[in-house]
Amino acid sequence: MAASTDAEWAAKLARINKSKDVFKSGVTRSWEWRETQLKQFLKFLDNEKQAIFDAIKADLGRPHLELTIEWMNMKNAVNFMLKNGKSMMKDEKVSGGMMNMTNSLYRHPEPLGTVLIMGAWNYPFDLCLNPLVGAIGAGCTAIVKPSEVAKSSSKMIYDVLPKYLDPDAFPVFVEGPEGATKMLKERYDLIFFTGGTKIGKIVYKAAAEHLTPCVLELGGQNPCWVDDGYDLNLAAKRILFGKVINSGQICIAPNYLLCTKSTRDRLVPELKKIFSEFYPEGPKISDCYSGKMVTERHYKRLVGLLGKTKGKVVHGGNFDEKTCFIEPTVVTDVTMDDILMEEELFGPILPIVTVDNFDDALSKVHSLEKPLAAYCFAHDKKIINRWVSEVSSGGMCINDTIMHISPETLPFGGVGESGIGAYHGKASFHTFSHYKSVMDVGTPQFLLKRRSAPYSNDPANSSQFEWLLKQ
Ligand code: NAD
Repeated sequence: MAASTDAEWAAKLARINKSKDVFKSGVTRSWEWRETQLKQFLKFLDNEKQAIFDAIKADLGRPHLELTIEWMNMKNAVNFMLKNGKSMMKDEKVSGGMMNMTNSLYRHPEPLGTVLIMGAWNYPFDLCLNPLVGAIGAGCTAIVKPSEVAKSSSKMIYDVLPKYLDPDAFPVFVEGPEGATKMLKERYDLIFFTGGTKIGKIVYKAAAEHLTPCVLELGGQNPCWVDDGYDLNLAAKRILFGKVINSGQICIAPNYLLCTKSTRDRLVPELKKIFSEFYPEGPKISDCYSGKMVTERHYKRLVGLLGKTKGKVVHGGNFDEKTCFIEPTVVTDVTMDDILMEEELFGPILPIVTVDNFDDALSKVHSLEKPLAAYCFAHDKKIINRWVSEVSSGGMCINDTIMHISPETLPFGGVGESGIGAYHGKASFHTFSHYKSVMDVGTPQFLLKRRSAPYSNDPANSSQFEWLLKQ
């Protein structure tokens, strides 16, 4: 991506400043303005559905159902905000005890201001526009930066979104690392970043210059425990569902499986069976699997890992450089120091690490950074409870994969190296708001009299004051 000339960059800066001016004008404070933008957002989704699908397909070659999922996620987010946004703008009353019985105490949500939203390429619309729904609902203006790696999708957002939303309030930028670095020098009221941990740290450092708060939606190595007594056909079906969506290029895909050797020996045949049910004619010609890695660089990284692993490929393992295609691939005999376990895979490769027992599995999970998601297939409630309480992860799904991010009532975000902050549903509104604590003091003076000089040295006065504070 060509670097901007000084004149071009000055024009871009002017667009950023214009968005700040729109916020400062106060227009975003009314629900009516926000509602109009949200309704326009719905129009964008409905009128441009096919163009959105075409753009994602060009970038990632996804099957139709998977295109629909990305589109529906955005549509649900807008509908949720249209339905609930106005009531979330209301002050939240709180009590302050006896001492404040004549006062009114509340938390007033105010929009943070002008925010920068940076998206990742794997869900090129949703990861950029879903946070934008939160920003609009909360009354912010936003600088929207989709990932330049998803070329068709980012171009479509750049060309078409401003025809629907207020283009001054929500300018779109398509920039590579150089432009993104320049954008990060500017001051925003929040940076909402989705991407890898490495770039997340760069963003966090840049934000620190201006003390800008950040939401970092990052990735990680998501573990998946399969317990000895579990129905392995069901586990295989649900694990593969989460692994092959978007050809494994999804931040919440199960990154590696953990199970005992005896479970592995029974699980691998079930995985193979499910693969042939999913793709009876093989994944290469199936219209239910794309296998297209987003760029040659990403394709080469994954093929390189397959070439270097000391594990045993027991299913798949084929690839095609011309189309950047990688088959869903299962690798057994993978140890924690194998190259496949060095970082998040972000592709259709599924390593299986065998362990002695559940405790051994937990200690292996604990040896890595905190993941974005963690999965556990078990019937035994004790095992499930231990997984929930002993594995720290952004979110979790028990006896399935991926699905925990769909309800708007469950905030989505990471912990530790997998991220900071969360969104979806109400959490999206909260993320883009500052909850200002307000005390509106009533006129009666009798409770306040004792706090000011001249103080009484009478211990009775102090103990009455102490009593009041405790109520
Ligand atoms: P990335 O970190 O390479 O890029 C993300 C964004 O950062 C893009 O907008 C990109 O233009 C920008 N960027 C790239 N280089 C930069 C630089 N030097 N300075 C400033 N900005 C720069 O991530 P990606 O490859 O697009 O996405 C894959 C990663 O994102 C995976 O690690 C995945 O787990 C993670 N991810 C997380 C979520 C989530 O919701 N938590 C969702 C999707 C992807």
